[in-house]
Amino acid sequence: MEVAGPTLCMKLEKQVALAPLTWWKIGGPAEHFIQPRDQEELEQALQWAQSQSWPVTVLGGGSNVLIPDEGLPGLVISLRELRGLKSEIIPQEEPPFQRLCITALAGTPKSDLTKVFLEHKLAPALFLCGLPGDTGGGVVMNAGVSESIQPREFVEIVDWVEVLRINSENSNEASLLRFANTDLRWTYRHSSGWQPGVIFRVSLSWPLQPQENIMSEVKLATRNRLKKQPLNWPSCGSVFKNPEGYKAGALIEQSGLKGFSIGQAQVSELHSNFIINRGGATAKDVRSLIEHIQNTVRDKFAVELQTEVRFL
Ligand SMILES: Cc1cc2nc3c(=O)[nH]c(=O)nc-3n(C[C@H](O)[C@H](O)[C@H](O)COP(=O)(O)OP(=O)(O)OC[C@H]3O[C@@H](n4cnc5c(N)ncnc54)[C@H](O)[C@@H]3O)c2cc1C
Repeated sequence: MEVAGPTLCMKLEKQVALAPLTWWKIGGPAEHFIQPRDQEELEQALQWAQSQSWPVTVLGGGSNVLIPDEGLPGLVISLRELRGLKSEIIPQEEPPFQRLCITALAGTPKSDLTKVFLEHKLAPALFLCGLPGDTGGGVVMNAGVSESIQPREFVEIVDWVEVLRINSENSNEASLLRFANTDLRWTYRHSSGWQPGVIFRVSLSWPLQPQENIMSEVKLATRNRLKKQPLNWPSCGSVFKNPEGYKAGALIEQSGLKGFSIGQAQVSELHSNFIINRGGATAKDVRSLIEHIQNTVRDKFAVELQTEVRFL
């Protein structure tokens, strides 16, 4: 009996430069590259990779990843084209008796979520407004801010997450699984319980309780970011997580590393937890600088700095 193999109805490219798809502008090419636009195409991409025994790497907005100089083997799935959202007002039992509910494909930029929350003058716009990258990446990283506002992290606004998963190594069938917020484990800049698979769609909601001053707060938060972060240089945002009881940036600064560079990778003069690419930095430069920072901070303060950025 002949068994039908997986089909692929979209463009599969080879040796595609990945650096332009990352905020750091660093890294080599993808051996194979694909940009699915809907569930069917994402499913095909995963099935194709499985049939070829290729490793799969998922790229969201590329704002929190370091890609190696030699590039990535197998298949890189970029979610840039998997975007779009729907919003609706749904009833809830407690006051104010209504909530705004947004269902977004994983590749929907966070800025699109911000716009919808802002249209309804709702609090989530404030923490979302400065966060780069996509909705799926926001769930993976439990992205958020350290200011004491509510909400301040993805965990507080996500209702459920849908994950597309190949069932097992021996079967090429894919399933779309839905996880409620409480099925997942959410910690500081991390979520788990949904892996393995690719986050396909996310549902988020917030009580419909308009805050008249939200727009001015968003403007102020944006101005503060522009003042405190080196946003005119390629970076991945904060490289290290804040260790319990410390600020990573302060430890780095007090270690005398502000402005320190290896190759073209430099500890930002403006925000010491940012490593900026001054033009032509390699992943090797960045890795060496990260190691140097970790060693220096360990020697001086006996504190272990853990990276927030993902090494793909
Ligand atoms: C200037 C700047 C400022 C930043 N400020 C903040 C901040 O204030 N707070 C904060 O929390 N973060 C911040 N970040 C980091 C970053 O924006 C967030 O972590 C963001 O949520 C990452 O989303 P992304 O779509 O870019 O993910 P990517 O960087 O593309 O991917 C991150 C990880 O998630 C995986 N992934 C992505 N999408 C999916 C998916 N759909 N399914 C499965 N896996 C997936 C990738 O494989 C990778 O391991 C900042 C970054 C920059 C460049």
